[in-house]
Amino acid sequence: MKNRRDFLKKTALASAAITLPSFKGLDQNELSYSNQKVNKPIVLSTWNFGIQANEEAWKILQNNGRALDAVEAGVKIPEGDPNERSVGYGGRPDREGKVTLDSCIMDEFSNIGSVACLEHIKHPISVARAVMEKTPHVMLVGQGALDFALEQGFQKENLLVEASEKEWKEWLKKSEYHPKANIENHDTIGMIALDNQGNLSGACTTSGMAFKMHGRVGDSPIIGAGLYVDNEIGAATATGHGEEVIRITGCHLVVELMRQGKSPQKACEEAVMRIVKLTQNRGKNLKDIQVGFIALNKKGEYGSYCVQGGFNYAVHDATGNKLIDANYFMK
Ligand code: ASP
Repeated sequence: MKNRRDFLKKTALASAAITLPSFKGLDQNELSYSNQKVNKPIVLSTWNFGIQANEEAWKILQNNGRALDAVEAGVKIPEGDPNERSVGYGGRPDREGKVTLDSCIMDEFSNIGSVACLEHIKHPISVARAVMEKTPHVMLVGQGALDFALEQGFQKENLLVEASEKEWKEWLKKSEYHPKANIENHDTIGMIALDNQGNLSGACTTSGMAFKMHGRVGDSPIIGAGLYVDNEIGAATATGHGEEVIRITGCHLVVELMRQGKSPQKACEEAVMRIVKLTQNRGKNLKDIQVGFIALNKKGEYGSYCVQGGFNYAVHDATGNKLIDANYFMK
């Protein structure tokens, strides 16, 4: 009996020793960063439309707002713009002429919310946030996501703008689906931010690949693939051919590489190299593939890398808002 009690006592102590640091995880982290200058607040987002999106996010960040609110407000800019034809309202449809949207969001507490294949709602990112905050689940898809959005008071709208409908009708004539690298028929806004409190959050939203099969879901609403945030380490988001990002659980990989000590730049490079290797191993043509990652760590350092040239991203910190051409593998 004594032995058993001893054993239980030791086990309890051992597990306390194991679990305690995780309760204090943030303290540990703060310790390791406390002596270094942290570049905060800072926000990064993908592609040209990242500039305007960053402006919106910055309004919140510079007023000591929360990174979560900043990334939601930021990505709503391209989502609501009918001239941005790869995100939200105005997005190109699938091959059945339906605009189906994919989005996800993640905060500093690892709360997550996501919607996939959602139709008729202009701001899927806000529905993803409502999934995160108001349901016991983390992901809703299709009709279920739409029913939930309507219940929450979101308006049902027609998202197919004339220009997108015209392109779709043109596409139908041949009905050939060959997504090419850097042909602007996709492009996602992924945004990651570090606020003045030192907390990270991210959002990712898209209409996905133009003329995809109805029901196709890409990487963008999949936590770990199109977006990942670990408040002790850093955050990453992705754009490009979602199938390739999902194959390597891309953004989780980037964050884990940063956990191992890699800089955001090196972590993005290594994730891209994994895609390069798998593409070659599978006998596929790398020239038809584009994937770009952006990453940010707890110190406010950032980086990016992509398979081929043509991907850019926007960075806003105290020094201003600028577009940067990402470095790439296929020279
Ligand atoms: N990653 C998105 C998707 O596969 C598209 C893109 O970012 O270009 O749906």
